[in-house]
Amino acid sequence: MVVQTMWKDRLCFSDLESSAARIENLKKLGCGVLRFAVPDLEAAEVLGNLACMVSMPLVADIHFDYKIALACLDFPIAKIRLNPGNIGGRDKVEAVLSKAAALSRPIRIGVNAGSLPQDLRLRNDEGSLETAEALVLAAEREMAIFDDFGFKDFLVSMKASSVADTIKANRILSQRSDVPLHVGVTEAGPLIAGVVRNTAALMALLGEGIGDTVRVSLSDTMENEIIAGREILLAAAGIAGKEGQGRLNPQGVNIVSCPLCGRSSFDTHAFTARWQSRLYALDKSITVAIMGCAVNGPGEARHADIGITGAGDKVLIFRKGKVIRTIDVDEADTAFGEELNRL
Ligand code: SF4
Repeated sequence: MVVQTMWKDRLCFSDLESSAARIENLKKLGCGVLRFAVPDLEAAEVLGNLACMVSMPLVADIHFDYKIALACLDFPIAKIRLNPGNIGGRDKVEAVLSKAAALSRPIRIGVNAGSLPQDLRLRNDEGSLETAEALVLAAEREMAIFDDFGFKDFLVSMKASSVADTIKANRILSQRSDVPLHVGVTEAGPLIAGVVRNTAALMALLGEGIGDTVRVSLSDTMENEIIAGREILLAAAGIAGKEGQGRLNPQGVNIVSCPLCGRSSFDTHAFTARWQSRLYALDKSITVAIMGCAVNGPGEARHADIGITGAGDKVLIFRKGKVIRTIDVDEADTAFGEELNRL
């Protein structure tokens, strides 16, 4: 199971070095695939150059002009995403398939409720075709072209901003086909709304074994999209059977942190904010607890591989519920970092 995100800015040649560094950081956070909008041929060239600089698989997202997809394939781009609603005639799709097949590059058929093929959009607008069914029909049309052409290395996404439509479309297609599915709610909103909507959709789908890659689309940072995706996989794996856990394969740090209350003597919010990115970037499958007081802190987090909690005017660091260090508040970050490195 791969967590994806999408680059949020327009790339330019002058940003290549800094973009490559940010991509390496996204990889550490758990990003497995990174998609870029490629609106023109210049963007294709910039992305192509960036793909030569990083180890992350980069995906070119193409709308309207199939020639941009052809240009991207001249570079080590890992995958092309095409939107059948706006790419044009069958001959244009087949030109992309022909070049992708020769280079053994996969393609994602990316269908969106907001850009359905015109006839399906009209039927959807007039109410004779449900959005979920329209998404599936659009995907199946494109799949038929791919099948006729003998192009097998593809997956499908069907996205809507509605949780219900997203779930329904993916359920329908997964019953009709075993094509791999990229799943998530699109245009899902700001951080909290977007995480809630994606969690609702993805927990339902992943719980039914539907979905091979995920993206949590947010009006927020790429880093938070990745962290949200990881957390949803972790939660889904927690309630999945053994087979499901193996498929979801969540990796990395599990952070447990208290919300604070009147008993707290340690600012868990500030500490968590300071450490969150570093913890998520660790290549360790451990549980880290950040608690506000000694009343419940070590006890509630006794299974944590490492934890930190306030205790009066002191701070305790503990492992598996056993206190290993007692320190002043201003030593908390240094001491915690030292103990983390010892794990
Ligand atoms: Fe309150 Fe302590 Fe629980 Fe945090 S760990 S919510 S400070 S009782």
